[in-house]
Amino acid sequence: MFIIYGTKSFQKILLTSGITQCGHCGNEVNYNLTKVTTWATLFWIPIFPGSFKYYWLCPLCKHGYKITKKEAMEIVDSSKNSEGNVIDVEGTQVESPE
Ligand SMILES: [Zn+2]
Repeated sequence: MFIIYGTKSFQKILLTSGITQCGHCGNEVNYNLTKVTTWATLFWIPIFPGSFKYYWLCPLCKHGYKITKKEAMEIVDSSKNSEGNVIDVEGTQVESPE
């Protein structure tokens, strides 16, 4: 009998930054604060979530950089309290999710 297992990633955009210049493609974009959940799958069916990762991602080139869950939660919390919803995105580390 064959058992087919693997992983599958799902992305959810938590919020969008103000206009900023992407450090990778150089375009003026709204970075997306993205939660990536990787699920363990059995016969292509997600069984349980294996990991949660948070990234600032450029919507055009899909590059960005990873942040911690704590940082992500602080950004989400502060965006709820402030009116502008403008977040300064700085960073040079480039890492793309799977
Ligand atoms: Zn970009």
